[in-house]
Amino acid sequence: MEEKWVICPVCKSKTRVKLRDDTILKNFPLFCPKCKQESVISAEKMQVSVHKKAE
Ligand SMILES: [Zn+2]
Repeated sequence: MEEKWVICPVCKSKTRVKLRDDTILKNFPLFCPKCKQESVISAEKMQVSVHKKAE
């Protein structure tokens, strides 16, 4: 089983959210503990797409 940490689209650091290769996220509010921004993402088959980048 492959796993990877989701990278914050704002500051590019690791968040505390992990993806497995069978994880499916839809409109997931991703909070970054480093820059304290929230971004909305979706993910499927380890491919992450960002819907809304925090300003
Ligand atoms: Zn961040």
